[in-house]
Amino acid sequence: MLVSATEMLKKARDGHYAVGQFNINNLEWTKAILLTAQELNSPVILGVSEGAGKYMTGFKTVAAMVNAMVDSLGITVPVALHLDHGSYEGAKACIEAGFSSIMFDGSHYSIEENVAKTTELVELAHSKGISLEAEVGSIGGEEDGVVGAGEIADPAECAKISGLGIDFLAAGIGNIHGKYPENWKGLDFEALGKIHDATNGIPLVLHGGTGIPADMIKQAISLGVSKINVNTECQLSFAAATREYIEAGKDLQGKGFDPRKLLAPGFEAIKATVKEKMELFGSVNKA
Ligand SMILES: [Zn+2]
Repeated sequence: MLVSATEMLKKARDGHYAVGQFNINNLEWTKAILLTAQELNSPVILGVSEGAGKYMTGFKTVAAMVNAMVDSLGITVPVALHLDHGSYEGAKACIEAGFSSIMFDGSHYSIEENVAKTTELVELAHSKGISLEAEVGSIGGEEDGVVGAGEIADPAECAKISGLGIDFLAAGIGNIHGKYPENWKGLDFEALGKIHDATNGIPLVLHGGTGIPADMIKQAISLGVSKINVNTECQLSFAAATREYIEAGKDLQGKGFDPRKLLAPGFEAIKATVKEKMELFGSVNKA
């Protein structure tokens, strides 16, 4: 059974570790992440962007697949199915489809409109036991057509949004989606400290977890970050392993073209990436 992310993130905050959100794209991704979480006895959040939801033919398909897979694989660690960077309409659709957690990204609205829409969605989500993540200050880089400038969130706005009854808050602190550029200045820990102080202990979310150095991840966790989103890193490791298989001509040997063989190295690569992240975030044996 899927659970909301509220309890697992409160536990993470109190225990000074973070739970990984790993985005899914298809069956292989989902299976790799669920099996790794179970093997490591770690809670896990499966992230689904609106684009990935469309790709998998809709949020209902995703919810049905994840629910069935948790059951078929005998997964007993806490699993949340979470909409990543949801629009107002997308959030409502996922609440309807059976997701257990929602991110409403109202960061591109004025603060007043972000407050109004977040307030409405918190009420709707909570009436169904679903957790809600909100965002203040857009996160840099591009994710599914959502382009953020990488702003540093205003602590006063963070306080305002976190006071609306949301369960966890994503706040921009110089983090960006995708690969970090060579000249990236790093996370702004002064800003994170101010946001942490202004938001009354609410679990904070760090987006764009791909390629942030381990020491920065640990420092962010010490300042209240309890959820870290990883997406691009699994894509890169899947692509590299698949490339290696094909470049070695293995798809041309015997039945190497069988998709179950062709996708296996990428599947194993995702598992290795998820394992590495869970160990870094400290969520191993925290289920
Ligand atoms: Zn994000």
